Amino acid sequence: MGTAFVTCTVVPLYLWHFKADAFQVAMFFFFFIATGLSITLGYHRLFAHKAFEARWPVRLLTLLFGAATFENCALAWVSDHRRHHKNVDSDDDPYDITKGFWHAHIGWILFKLDPEPPWDNVADLRKDPLVMLQDRFYVPIAIVVGFVTPAFLGYLHAGWMGALSGFLIAGVARVFAVQHMTFFINSLCHTVGSRPYSDRCSARDSGLMAIFTFGEGYHNYHHEFQHDYRNGVKWWQWDPTKWSIWTLEKLRLANSLRRVSEEKILLMQLAEARRRLDERLACRVTPLQGRTRLLLQNSGAKLHHLGERWTALKAEYAEKKDLQIEHARAALAEIRREVRHAFDLLELASAMA
Ligand SMILES: [Zn+2]
Ligand SMILES: [Zn+2]
Repeated sequence: MGTAFVTCTVVPLYLWHFKADAFQVAMFFFFFIATGLSITLGYHRLFAHKAFEARWPVRLLTLLFGAATFENCALAWVSDHRRHHKNVDSDDDPYDITKGFWHAHIGWILFKLDPEPPWDNVADLRKDPLVMLQDRFYVPIAIVVGFVTPAFLGYLHAGWMGALSGFLIAGVARVFAVQHMTFFINSLCHTVGSRPYSDRCSARDSGLMAIFTFGEGYHNYHHEFQHDYRNGVKWWQWDPTKWSIWTLEKLRLANSLRRVSEEKILLMQLAEARRRLDERLACRVTPLQGRTRLLLQNSGAKLHHLGERWTALKAEYAEKKDLQIEHARAALAEIRREVRHAFDLLELASAMA
């Protein structure tokens, strides 16, 4: 609340009177990216989901800069987050969206009505001495890395006024920006966007949200395949966190990157598209017009046929692995093309309905 208040009052007044030079702007972005990525790449994908393994320099830096976001120590953050995935959209979900947008965004932190749940789901992290060290010295690390360092760098650049600028811009305003970026994942990413993989929970995919959240906006995919190191699973989807992890692998600082197979992802999309189609065809409240119904039925028949062909092909592939590999690969590529076409047809039919 303090950082939000100062960012909305003191910071604009200060900028109006004294302006910010290029050094201060660069420092803001450096701290924003370093601390933001420490949450998405470190706290979230590495520590909470074990989506890859990282060597100690990566763990150390993400723990130092992660603390500087003032979002709690990694143990507490991960414990809450694992509880969110396990009990999503229920009372045991710490940031349960069914209690309202503001509860999921920040209310759950401001009004802790229930007793603090035990950290009983982070036994694996307790074995990491760096995580335990961060837990022990969390507050001093957060203050030194988050506030003292930008103030000190500002002092080196331009004396005491530089120190004040560093503290206000790369310190306070940056904490505010990173915190709300993270909170958006719990609020907006469970409200805005589509659900191409499953409608089992409220998590949604949104390219727009991905831009503001270092790629975490593909949240529907993430809730279905939480161990994948990618959230934006398609190569073109904006996900700087996945690109950073990939780069760390090339630098030999990360390994064992976990990926869900393309077939599994496509099957999931296929099942979800068919479920949506059946729902639409069964809807009697608004009778569909002749041509639309025909389009939907065609699409449904095609998807059904593709699903069956896929199952048969997989069985065949499993039996004669070596002999049929080229044949199976070509057939899978063809099915993928047909599925995409069926999706387009489905979309067109839905728009007409
Ligand atoms: Zn979520
Ligand atoms: Zn997650």
